[in-house]
Amino acid sequence: ATPMSIISGVGRAAELGVLVRDADALQQASTVDTVIFDKTGTLTEGKPQVTAIHTFNQVTETQVLQWAAALEQGTSHPLAHAIITKAEGISLPQVNGFRTLRGLGVSGSVGESALLLGNDRLMTEQQVDISAAADTIRTEAERGATPVLLAANGTLVAVFAIRDPLRNDSIQALRRLHQQGYQLVMLTGDNQVTANAIAKEAGIDNVIAGVLPEGKADAIKQLQQAGHKVAMVGDGINDAPALACADVGIAMGGGSDIAIETAAITLMRHSLNGVADALALSKATLRNMK
Ligand code: ADP
Ligand code: MG
Repeated sequence: ATPMSIISGVGRAAELGVLVRDADALQQASTVDTVIFDKTGTLTEGKPQVTAIHTFNQVTETQVLQWAAALEQGTSHPLAHAIITKAEGISLPQVNGFRTLRGLGVSGSVGESALLLGNDRLMTEQQVDISAAADTIRTEAERGATPVLLAANGTLVAVFAIRDPLRNDSIQALRRLHQQGYQLVMLTGDNQVTANAIAKEAGIDNVIAGVLPEGKADAIKQLQQAGHKVAMVGDGINDAPALACADVGIAMGGGSDIAIETAAITLMRHSLNGVADALALSKATLRNMK
């Protein structure tokens, strides 16, 4: 083995906008057979928008937006940003007893109304009947939108459909990775139906959905136990444990500092083409050494 060729590989990677932490990172990358992608902000733009508001039980659209946006003011989740933006120009009431429920949503009270906002799992856990909205929820999810449900005093009052489109070069970058022979996997806290729709559009065959933030690292360990060498690509604070647990952690540039600190490889361009470049380069470099 000639360490020189690894050093020059690290240098060539930098020219492509791929920062490789050390020689070991490049060596590990050359052994990878499976690439796992976080969905939000990695495969997608990470700037979700409200595309439809469905109301139930005679509550007005303005009322449900006011409630939902008031609750979301307490969080920095991308879904929260979408709802707050949609409510621009509407005055927001004060929220009491605000709580975030990791991987589920948020809760709090406005006046006499106890509010719950989040996914179907949250509603089921809190015994809110969502059967009247079942068709709406399924239809929106099959189109690749994330349904966010709002309940007031235990009754479902709205379904917000929120869409976060794929990055414009994701499909092409994933096609390159497929051609390079990698198994591609999407990992997300979002629901299975929405995740499947987006994975299909992206050309990803394997989806691990409904994963709580702390479960992302476990999902990677399971793939490793099945004998796979795993690269994990992510950008968020939630992704740091998974990036650390993977054989190679790859952070998208422009993501959270903690993701970048944890990752062996950082992409300076905010594009998944950097993943294909990095993995191809690692193989070429290690091949030259043999
Ligand atoms: P990811 O980062 O993979 O999207 P999260 O754990 O952040 O996963 O969120 C998982 C799911 O929990 C979301 O898809 C959404 O349904 C629900 N959720 C989490 N936080 C919020 C929020 N602030 N508002 C509405 N829904 C939320
Ligand atoms: Mg994320």
